Amino acid sequence: MNISENISLRAYNSFGIDVQARYFSAFSDQDQLAELLGFSPAPPLILGGGSNILLTRDIDGLVLKNEIRGVGVVHEDEEHVYVRVGAGEVWHPFVLYCLERDWAGVENLSLIPGSVGAAPMQNIGAYGVEIRDVFHELEAYVIDEQKVYTFSANDCEFGYRESIFKGKYKDRVVILNVTFRLNKKPVFHTSYGDIRNELERMGVKDLNIRAVSQAVISIRQSKLPDPAKIGNAGSFFKNPQISNARFLSLKKKFPDIVGFANYDGSIKLAAAWMIEQCGWKGYRKGDAGCHAKQALVLVNYGNASGKEIYSLSEDIYKSVKKKFGVELEREVNVI
Ligand SMILES: Cc1cc2nc3c(=O)[nH]c(=O)nc-3n(C[C@H](O)[C@H](O)[C@H](O)COP(=O)(O)OP(=O)(O)OC[C@H]3O[C@@H](n4cnc5c(N)ncnc54)[C@H](O)[C@@H]3O)c2cc1C
Repeated sequence: MNISENISLRAYNSFGIDVQARYFSAFSDQDQLAELLGFSPAPPLILGGGSNILLTRDIDGLVLKNEIRGVGVVHEDEEHVYVRVGAGEVWHPFVLYCLERDWAGVENLSLIPGSVGAAPMQNIGAYGVEIRDVFHELEAYVIDEQKVYTFSANDCEFGYRESIFKGKYKDRVVILNVTFRLNKKPVFHTSYGDIRNELERMGVKDLNIRAVSQAVISIRQSKLPDPAKIGNAGSFFKNPQISNARFLSLKKKFPDIVGFANYDGSIKLAAAWMIEQCGWKGYRKGDAGCHAKQALVLVNYGNASGKEIYSLSEDIYKSVKKKFGVELEREVNVI
């Protein structure tokens, strides 16, 4: 067991927040994990790529980085291939691995940072596709029972940036591996965002999953700040879901308000639009800011503390509530 003491977590979170972990280790299989858990009386902080967390304090206990690797086909039929992936694999290289083999389903999720194991935590989604669309099952170690359980898609209770792992099982599980059900024949999702325009700009004649992935990558690179250059964790807030009746009443007061219809008739409001209307886009105080191109993304320009970023998010929350009467919910896990 190799446990480091008093180490900076700056390199382990995409916000680049400099807090200390009292104890830090990595594990690459279940036995190592079980041994490390024996060392820690309190539940540890499990880290993947650190691209969906805001660290607001030093971690007094144990931080465990998931490095469980491996990708393998576990089953195949005429339509699908079932692929089990170690939770510590990095998401985007896994997407590229699928593209090389013509396995369809994850192309719209290209370039999302982070690990495979964290992807089901918030049911990652982008450009009209969510992980639940390709999810088959996962195995997770339940810490307080010291047992491994298999969770089906139903068990995971996926919702918009939600799963049971952010609810009932919060801080109680370590996801060990995820099995995806990928399509041998692609079903294209190109109506969302600028994908069609981008494909046209690229001059794509015969639609294929590599072209969709490339279009998504280009759009993302033009819109989102690169965490290697400016610390951030992607969208800081979720898009609030409200009833259609409430949307219509808001629309009377704010005719330009932006909302998208969900399948169930409810409306997903564009949080970025509301934040922008409150004047936050491009705002900066010290090293904490609201990105100039994408108001949903809070950024660390260098040496902001987690508390400063959190305090900015509080101010944004309050001003949106005051102006629109809508309560924003954080997508990022605040620790
Ligand atoms: C530039 C940028 C763009 C982004 N775009 C998107 C996007 O389009 N769509 C989207 O959905 N997200 C997006 N994100 C958010 C982020 O990439 C995803 O949420 C990603 O899945 C987080 O993975 P991670 O390994 O970095 O998780 P971490 O930040 O390490 O962890 C996130 C949470 O999951 C827990 N956790 C991590 N691994 C495990 C495990 N194996 N078992 C149990 N718990 C675990 C952690 O304790 C923490 O609570 C973006 C982030 C950035 C920086």
